Amino acid sequence: MKMGLRTRLFFSHLVVMLVGVASLVSISKISSPRFFVLHLERLENQGFDLIDVRTELVAGFELAWQRSTIWSVLVGTTAAGGLSYWVSRRIMQRLTEMEQITQKFAAGQMDARLPVSDIPELSGLSTSFNRMAASLEGVEARRREVIGDMTHELRTPLTVVRGYLEELADGQIEASPEIYRRLARETRRLERLVNDLQELSKAEAGYLPINIQRVNLRPLLESLVEKFTDQLLEDGPVLVLQCPSVLPPVLADIDRTEQVLVNLLGNAVHYTNEGSITIRAGTEGSQLWIAVIDTGIGIAPENLPHVFERFWRADQSRDRHSGGTGIGLTISRRLIELQGGQIQVESELGVGSTFRFFLPLA
Ligand code: ADP
Repeated sequence: MKMGLRTRLFFSHLVVMLVGVASLVSISKISSPRFFVLHLERLENQGFDLIDVRTELVAGFELAWQRSTIWSVLVGTTAAGGLSYWVSRRIMQRLTEMEQITQKFAAGQMDARLPVSDIPELSGLSTSFNRMAASLEGVEARRREVIGDMTHELRTPLTVVRGYLEELADGQIEASPEIYRRLARETRRLERLVNDLQELSKAEAGYLPINIQRVNLRPLLESLVEKFTDQLLEDGPVLVLQCPSVLPPVLADIDRTEQVLVNLLGNAVHYTNEGSITIRAGTEGSQLWIAVIDTGIGIAPENLPHVFERFWRADQSRDRHSGGTGIGLTISRRLIELQGGQIQVESELGVGSTFRFFLPLA
């Protein structure tokens, strides 16, 4: 049979008390009459005549001793038992309350918190639990938010595809290369979204392997300029590299830095119809900065704080069709942070945008 904590506490108090009482009673039973007799002998030695009353005195003493012992045992045991019951109940009440609250939390009530107890150990337990609960609540809120955003993002292309397919099936529209192209575009968008989401979830959970090494970024910048120049239209913007011929080495993951630059340049190309896109690099303190500066459509001041948020796009409808997922910059920022750097943006509507990131110098 398993005994509850309350019974155990109560019994342990009781056992301690019984041992105490038993030893008190047995020791005083043995020693008190002896001391009393010794005391009488001392009195007789001093000249008192106790011969006639001695037996009476000893018997009286024994009776008095027994009575008072019985009373003290009775009152003591009751008081100690009551006190022990009260203490065990108080501790148990706290523990039961804690158990109920943790069960509520486990059942999904994320705002359940343990009250502060006046017992320091229990209070410490409450504080740790509350800290854990707060962090889990945050994780849970972010998870819900991501799932909500994600379903919203996935639904749009799916609705478009289903609409076309149903109309094709009903013969409401004629199958044409243009229709198939639109369908392909939406499926590509879905594909991109899924890839981006996978990357984002890895980056947010910190699973993206980052291989930080001492690297020189100039060759990377040159190869990117070459690659992106090929993508630019004849009458579009020009791509310029403004960078000292010798760049100090940085501590970074070259592949992740390339990923970030590809994203920034991709955005710049996307949102710039004419003028120029400049990659500029330089040092500031113990950091190297690289900026991608465009003369594109720019971002409104009220939108600037949001550009790094996931799924955020300046113009929801425009970018949904142009294929943006609103995840690129979120991943870029995470990647830069994972390398110990930071990324910032400055922009003016109709003038252009500058995305600048910093990496630690080697
Ligand atoms: P995506 O480009 O896939 O939509 P991003 O996270 O890369 O996602 O960008 C988020 C939004 O920020 C874009 O939809 C766009 O509205 C805005 N943006 C990003 N880069 C630029 C830029 N160079 N010029 C103007 N707007 C930009």
